[in-house]
Amino acid sequence: MLRDGLNRPIQDLRISVTDRCNFRCLYCMPLAEYDWIDRAEILSYEEIERLARIFAGLGVSKIRLTGGEPLVRKNLSDLIGRLAPLPHIRDLCLTTNGALLEEQAGALRKAGLRRINVSLDTLKPDRFRAITQRGDLEPVLRGLDAAKQAGLGPIKINAVIERGVNDDEIIDLVEFSRREGFAMRFIEYMDVGNTNHWRSEKLVSKQEILAAIQKHYGLTELGREQGTAPAVNYRFSDGGGDIGVIASVTEPFCGSCTRARLTADGKLVTCLFSSTGHDLKKPLRGGKTDAEIAAFIESIWTSRQDRYSEERWEALNSSQGYRAEEHRKIEMISLGG
Ligand code: SAM
Ligand code: SF4
Ligand code: SF4
Repeated sequence: MLRDGLNRPIQDLRISVTDRCNFRCLYCMPLAEYDWIDRAEILSYEEIERLARIFAGLGVSKIRLTGGEPLVRKNLSDLIGRLAPLPHIRDLCLTTNGALLEEQAGALRKAGLRRINVSLDTLKPDRFRAITQRGDLEPVLRGLDAAKQAGLGPIKINAVIERGVNDDEIIDLVEFSRREGFAMRFIEYMDVGNTNHWRSEKLVSKQEILAAIQKHYGLTELGREQGTAPAVNYRFSDGGGDIGVIASVTEPFCGSCTRARLTADGKLVTCLFSSTGHDLKKPLRGGKTDAEIAAFIESIWTSRQDRYSEERWEALNSSQGYRAEEHRKIEMISLGG
């Protein structure tokens, strides 16, 4: 099995299918314009499928499609149809903001998608518009319904909790997800990209999130799925389902990070906070064989040493502190959340 410099196997591949998005969430890509990837540089579905096969041959068993907003890319169900039957891929998942889910849920399910994560940070229409700058709550709620009708499941809801923005809605989101049968995932606010002006004061920690929930519900810790998933899961004592918390900042999990990322223009990125990627498109379009590309990926993965979130946590707890703006990173829209 292929292992990196810190003995972590390659198991998950997150594929950003586009860096474009119909929202401009303040915590992710607040600016109107970015240095968008040129259309000619974006991998075709054939190219993504070929790379996915090569990664599967190296040990990847789980693929997540993300972005940018994956559903703004045309005919995404074509790509699902190519990836779902790949040998060794046990789990294929999609993360979406849900705005275009109502019209696409049926086709995605038919093409072989089984489960889905939908980002939803608030249940208040005005706040939804303020956070996303361009989105409306109603279509996302209809999209969630459509996903249920289409038979996608489990449906997980991702909510980034930010102090002073939506930390008063933790219980509302819990109740919404319990009522609707969704699995809630709370995410600590991170310093992704270079434009979200992250400050540690805006972070609501996992401990605070759990304390807010435990005022109303008993929880039993279940741990991480497969031992390596970002979320730590909890079960409601009254049998009302599960919730998870992704504590990337206060409980970094780099030690079990098995995730590789592929940008929409074919760069292999070994950490969410990387400043550069490794170009796979050039060998892909330059006539290299699958074996040659696999050997290139192997050489990158075996020298991987990333542990950014652990280093950030060490810095945050040190006398010098941590200044997010001093670290240049690839934008999250390019490398996939
Ligand atoms: N557009 C899709 C969506 O919003 O679900 C997929 C891409 S988005 C970059 C993937 C995930 O990253 C979303 O769940 C989003 O909430 C999360 N995310 C974005 N910026 C974040 C931040 N600063 N801290 C924590 N999570 C963030
Ligand atoms: Fe777009 Fe998703 Fe980022 Fe929001 S979190 S701006 S929906 S990519
Ligand atoms: Fe993995 Fe990098 Fe996140 Fe650590 S900071 S868990 S190495 S993606």
